[in-house]
Formats: sequence, structure tokens, C-alpha cells
Amino acid sequence: MSASGKARFIPVTQPALPPLEDFIPYLQQIWDSRQLTNSGPFHAQLERALCDYLGVPHVALFANGTLALVTALQALRITGEVITTPYSFVATAHSLLWNGITPVFADIDPLTLNLDPARIEAAITPQTTAIMPVHCYGHPCDVERIQAVAERQGLKVIYDAAHAFGVRDGGGSVLRHGDLSVLSFHATKVFNTFEGGAIVCPDADTKQHIDHLKNFGFVDETTVVAPGINGKMSEINAAFGLLQLRDIDAALVRREAVDARYRAAFAGTRGIVCLPVREARANYAYFPVLVRPDYPLRRDALFERLRTHGILARRYFYPLISDFPMYHDMPSAAADNLPVARAASEQVICLPIHPALTEADVEAVIACVTDPAR
Ligand SMILES: *Cc1c(COP(=O)(O)O)cnc(C)c1O
Repeated sequence: MSASGKARFIPVTQPALPPLEDFIPYLQQIWDSRQLTNSGPFHAQLERALCDYLGVPHVALFANGTLALVTALQALRITGEVITTPYSFVATAHSLLWNGITPVFADIDPLTLNLDPARIEAAITPQTTAIMPVHCYGHPCDVERIQAVAERQGLKVIYDAAHAFGVRDGGGSVLRHGDLSVLSFHATKVFNTFEGGAIVCPDADTKQHIDHLKNFGFVDETTVVAPGINGKMSEINAAFGLLQLRDIDAALVRREAVDARYRAAFAGTRGIVCLPVREARANYAYFPVLVRPDYPLRRDALFERLRTHGILARRYFYPLISDFPMYHDMPSAAADNLPVARAASEQVICLPIHPALTEADVEAVIACVTDPAR
């Protein structure tokens, strides 16, 4: 970093942090109460505050998003096969393996890069019990068609909504869809609690069951009703979440401005395709572009060129989950089953977007992409 005299890098993302002194009073309260975890006061406050902010009925906090995914599948007693996308972060499919479930990969839609409902339907077998779609980059899935498939076939739907914090469609929060939705509050996400996650639940009974599952299955001091896990969020993380929530809207406004500047700049750049934003309220969590064959450089060459300029773009999502060794021998991982996902993973590059980017940072990225010979 410049302060240390080293070259300055522009990272793909950077966590927004409040002034440290603003966090001290929260720490003081934790020190005074000596309640460090196990559903303390900050945990309860953050659950309520998130329900209000997101516009959802119930939220169960977790130590991270992956444990929340694993527990969501447990809560619905999912077994057998689950249809999911290969175009995501690896935790999506790993949560299935951790439950002894076979992931079945289906191809994605070329415009949204989310699961293609027609391909979901074609992948159903007698073993299929659920669908696990991802709102990739925070862009909502085709939730209506997915729900229609699920109802026709008697399947559950668990949304991996790790990217979709705060996203709304015409009817409200995108997190209201499906049987459950799972959020991640990891440091790299739009809203972070250092590490953290949550399950959005439709009713109080489901939340209570999930609260038991994330606490070893305890329902009271002496009764254990299920082989639960330790998925609890600590008081430190919950308190930090409350403070982060104070500043989240300002962070989203800044992200939106970066998104708008990129879109305007790339509108005339041949071979660079931005993904459409169709949601009523977006969160600008990522800025993916597809590097098409009519761009002068291949994706990896652009990636390297950005790097030589100190711009640390990322190839989300490359490789496909289905290419990792624990998945690649599965029949649904075959290349001819996933041509759209494969093409996207070979063309995509996520450009830096976060609230601390300066105008100069954004212009440096734009210059590099629009004039690749530079
Ligand atoms: C970040 C992420 C996860 C995992 O969340 P953690 O909080 O890091 O465990 C799961 N799925 C997707 C799509 C993610 O991006």
C-alpha cells in the first residue's frame, strides 16, 4: 500500500469498516455483561434489525454462510439428489456433500448466469428432493418459474442468497422466495460481520427448529432433539453487524455510482458485455463483465494486463464447481451438460467495486479495459 511505500493495488473488493472508536462502546457492553455468545442481547438485536432492514419475517443468525447452508438442508431433511448450479462459489455444492446429498449440476441462463429453469426440469430424477439455486452476483433467479417447477414436482427450494443482501424485486425482498434463503456476511460480501451468515425463515416454527439445530439440537438444558451443529454467531460479530447496518445504505449508494460509471464507460467497448440489472433494488455486490471473442484480448490476457496495472480483478466463477476433483466425475459435471456455464466461466472477469474506490481508481480500471493496448 502507498503508506508503506509499496505499489498501490486496487483490490476487487475491500470491506467497509466503521471508525474503530465507534465499536468500542459495543465492546464495553460485552465486557460488562460477560455474555460472549449463546443468543445474547446483540444477537437478538441484530436478528430484529435485519428483519426490519431486509423486510423479511424471521432471521436465524449463523457463524458463517456455509454452516447456514448445511443447516438449511438439515432443517428441511433434504436427501438424495439436489439440482444446483456449477457457476457459483464452491460452498454451494460443498453444503450438499456435507449432508451426503448428490449435487446434480444443471446449466445456466446465458443472460443472467443463474440456473435455467428448463434445465432444472430436465435434470429431475426419482431421487431429486430439492433445488438449490444461487442469486448469482445478487441478480435474482427466475423465481417464479423455479417455484412452478418445484410445485409441479414436489421439490423444496433453498436459495443460496449469499450475494443477495438487500436485493428487492417488484414484490419485496428477494429473500422471501423458496422454502429458505441463506445469506453470507463474510468479509468480502456487501454486508459483513467479519464472518457470519443467516437463514431467512418464513415462519416462527421453522426459525425455532433452525435455532435448535445451530445449537447442537438443544431445546432446553437437558433435552437434545437432533444432531445439531455449533453454528452460532458470537456477540462480537452480532454487535459489529448492528454497527455495519448503520452505514450500509451509504455503502450501497457509493457502489451504485461505481456501477453506473462502469456501465457508461463500457457501453461502447466492443467485446465487453455487462450483465443487465433488472431487480427493483440492486446491491451492486460485484461488477462482472464477459470478455467476448470480439474483444482484442482473451479473458486471461485482460486479467494479467489488469494485474500489471495493480488492478486485482477476479475470475468469479472460474473454474466451475463441477471441475473440482470431488465433482468432476459426476455424470452431470460432463462438459456437454454445461456449455453455457463453461463459456461464462471462460469469459467472466469481476472488476473492482467497493465503497472505498476513488474516482481515480475507477478511471484506471476503465482505461485499462477500454484501451487494452495501453
Ligand atoms: C460467500 C459464499 C458462500 C459462503 O459463505 P461463507 O460465509 O463464506 O461461509 C456460499 N455461497 C456463495 C455463493 C458465496 O458467495
